[in-house]
Amino acid sequence: MDRKIPVALLGATGTVGQKFIVLLQNHPWFEITELVASPRSAGKTYREACAWKQDSPIPEYLQDEIVIPAGVELKSRILFSGMDASVAGPLEEDYAGKGHIVISNAKNHRTDPDVPIIIPEVNPDHFEITKKQKYKGAIITNSNCVIMPMAMVIAPLDKAFGIEWIQLTSMQAISGAGYPGVASYDIIGNVIPFIGGEEPKVESESQKILGTIDGNVIRPADYVVSAQCNRVPVVDGHTETLSIKFRKKPSPEEVKKILREWRAMPQEKKLPSAPSAPVIVFEEDNRPQPARDVWLEGGMAACVGRIRECPIGDIKMVIMGHNTVRGAAGAAILNAEAYVSLGYLD
Ligand code: NAP
Repeated sequence: MDRKIPVALLGATGTVGQKFIVLLQNHPWFEITELVASPRSAGKTYREACAWKQDSPIPEYLQDEIVIPAGVELKSRILFSGMDASVAGPLEEDYAGKGHIVISNAKNHRTDPDVPIIIPEVNPDHFEITKKQKYKGAIITNSNCVIMPMAMVIAPLDKAFGIEWIQLTSMQAISGAGYPGVASYDIIGNVIPFIGGEEPKVESESQKILGTIDGNVIRPADYVVSAQCNRVPVVDGHTETLSIKFRKKPSPEEVKKILREWRAMPQEKKLPSAPSAPVIVFEEDNRPQPARDVWLEGGMAACVGRIRECPIGDIKMVIMGHNTVRGAAGAAILNAEAYVSLGYLD
């Protein structure tokens, strides 16, 4: 690429927005040129507007950049959105209508029948449906942060053995609730067995991702998910236990072999943010763990362990993924890389 593609960040001050800034620092294709947030932050320097919570400092070139209010005209063609869901819906539509390619983390448009939820390893063919959208530009979403590692693990297994049902229990990190998120008084030394609106998303999004394009809509895959979602006192990394019933029962060894060998478009095209292995399979009884494994492959892999027989379904396992990297900002960046490399931006 001769010149970097300018991009804007919508929701630049939030948890996901900050992770975009960290991950896009020194990106070979994209360069942040516009920082956008709410009217509360507009007109302030980024440093003043943002409660920075990352391990590395704010990149110097952005510290004194003035934050722009959402809604105003933007120059960048690609807009990464990490806006609060209470405002993302109409703002993203407005920008897509004006010709921007909105690559969003928000839930608002994930259920629109002509808006794809893309995981480039799983369904890059779903980019095609953006041509049928009513917008001059497009809206592309990535999945909920629980679904991301789960869909990466089940996609190659569904292809090989056919999934009938999945029972999932999540243990979700506090960074998944944004900042300031859950009050410390509620979460320290505690487990909260409810996350508003989460279970319906977890029970339906992966079927759309594994679904097929049928005319102007995406027809979801035909299996059932039952989810129980919990908030736990972990900073980063959602852990999930799954029991899966297949149409054709595999052995644990067959499941491990398929997951270990799975490679897809981002690996073949060597996209800048692609993990070299999308799924990491552990043999140790006590892995994956968020504190030990969340940064493997730069936070872009789905980690899976304890693959064994299930007396109710066929196979059970533990999955873990970085919720603000592969489950949010990193996923959106990989989607943009796939979109560009497949020629859709031309
Ligand atoms: P957050 O920390 O609360 O940040 C929200 C962002 O939205 C801030 O930049 C905020 O700007 C901006 N915003 C609020 N009101 C606005 C308005 N009226 N106009 C424009 N911008 C406005 O939340 P987050 O955790 O980063 O989540 C952001 C989005 O990503 C949400 O839709 C969330 O569901 C989704 N998501 C989050 C995760 C995760 O793990 N955290 C994972 C996947 C998806 P100000 O600072 O100016 O208020």
